[in-house]
Amino acid sequence: MADRNGYAPSIIQTDTSFCYLCGRRDRKLDRHEPFGGPLRQKSKAHGMWVVLCHHPCHEGSEGAHGDPAVNRDLRAAAQRAAMKTYGWTTADFIREFGKNYL
Ligand SMILES: [Zn+2]
Ligand SMILES: [Zn+2]
Repeated sequence: MADRNGYAPSIIQTDTSFCYLCGRRDRKLDRHEPFGGPLRQKSKAHGMWVVLCHHPCHEGSEGAHGDPAVNRDLRAAAQRAAMKTYGWTTADFIREFGKNYL
C-alpha cells in the first residue's frame, strides 16, 4: 500500500536507513525514483525508489541526477526488482515503463 505521499514500500531496498549507493547513514537522505516525468508516480506506487545521501549520491555530479550511467544502473535495479516482485516478463516491464534496461 502506498503512503499518503504515493510511496509503496521500496522493492529495491528493504532497509532504507542508509544510502543505497554508498551505504552511509550519517548524511541527509533523499528518496529517489529512477523513473521521472510521467513515470514518477508509477515508480513510487510500485515501490521503485531508493534512498540516497543528498550529496554526493543523489544530487552530486557523480550521483543519480548528475551521471547518466548511475541512473541507468538504478533503472536496471528497479526493473530487476519489479520483474521479480510482480512476476513481470521483459515485455510486461516495457509495457509499463517503456524500455528494457537489462
Ligand atoms: Zn551515498
Ligand atoms: Zn532523485
